[in-house]
Amino acid sequence: MAFELPPLPYDYTALEPHIDEATMKLHHDKHHAAYVSNLNAAVEKHPELGKKSVEDLLKDLNAVPDDVRGAVRNNGGGHANHTMFWEIMKPGASGEPTGAIAEQIKKDFGSFEDFKKTFNETTAKQFGSGWGWLVWKDGKLAIVTTPNQDSPLSQGLQPILGNDVWEHAYYLKYNNRRPEYLAAWWNVVNWNEVNKRFEQAKK
Ligand code: MN
Repeated sequence: MAFELPPLPYDYTALEPHIDEATMKLHHDKHHAAYVSNLNAAVEKHPELGKKSVEDLLKDLNAVPDDVRGAVRNNGGGHANHTMFWEIMKPGASGEPTGAIAEQIKKDFGSFEDFKKTFNETTAKQFGSGWGWLVWKDGKLAIVTTPNQDSPLSQGLQPILGNDVWEHAYYLKYNNRRPEYLAAWWNVVNWNEVNKRFEQAKK
């Protein structure tokens, strides 16, 4: 298989009480797994695509043949987005940014509280399924949303951090209360990993 489901880097219960075990099991083992298997099915028809990284596929969707472009956009996006998502979370996180990203957030948004408020409000308003992102754009941090599994990479933007607001990410625990999930999520953000992505995005 060209693409593989990465193992969850911690236990299913590790992000409790903010993200529950049942959600983590379904989200990783069923949802993410399905994106990987559908992506593999799509690239099977064009084996040269399987030699590229999923990020490279998403950065240049025009280079993907017409008959599988939609499948690569949706399932390649789903694979890349979720792989990042597991990595930028961790148990026992501090809840507060550290290092260079902390400084940049202060510079571009005034304070971490102001940044969180804007991110949460913007992402809460994403209609239907999608993602909220922190990206590096024109020499500063910016908050954007994408529908479905669209990746910022396809718009030439490097994701630094992203939160999944598909209902499958929060509905079992938070039901329809997306803003409550968004507020709780900051408790599990792995700022060391976010700092690594910030460094890459600036290059
Ligand atoms: Mn998801």
